[in-house]
Amino acid sequence: MESTLEKVPIYTGRSSPTYILRKNLCMDCSVRGLCCYHSAKFGNNNVITHPCKYLDVDMGLCNIYEERFKINPICLTIEEAITKGQLPKECLYVINNKKYQKRLDIKRR
Ligand code: SF4
Ligand code: SF4
Repeated sequence: MESTLEKVPIYTGRSSPTYILRKNLCMDCSVRGLCCYHSAKFGNNNVITHPCKYLDVDMGLCNIYEERFKINPICLTIEEAITKGQLPKECLYVINNKKYQKRLDIKRR
């Protein structure tokens, strides 16, 4: 995760997002790296279990960012993570997405 320009989905209440090109939001994120934890659904909660082995847990940064999709085939794009409900609700890509905010939350064990 670093500050580069990327295509970002913006939700304005319509079913599909509008995309704009803007700075990567991750460096301003209060829960940076929480999106890189594995999680499992228990009842109404999506409970985080352990971090991705490529995550620098202290910094909340990916150690293989530029090559993450090549090295780690289960690493998700932002769009895929949104669709699968894998992002924490504090994530800046979904914090204004009312539909997403109604989904299961990610909680620490
Ligand atoms: S939770 Fe969202 S904004 Fe925060 S680091 Fe992860 S993808 Fe970026
Ligand atoms: S490989 Fe993907 S899931 Fe793992 S730390 Fe990097 S960005 Fe996060």
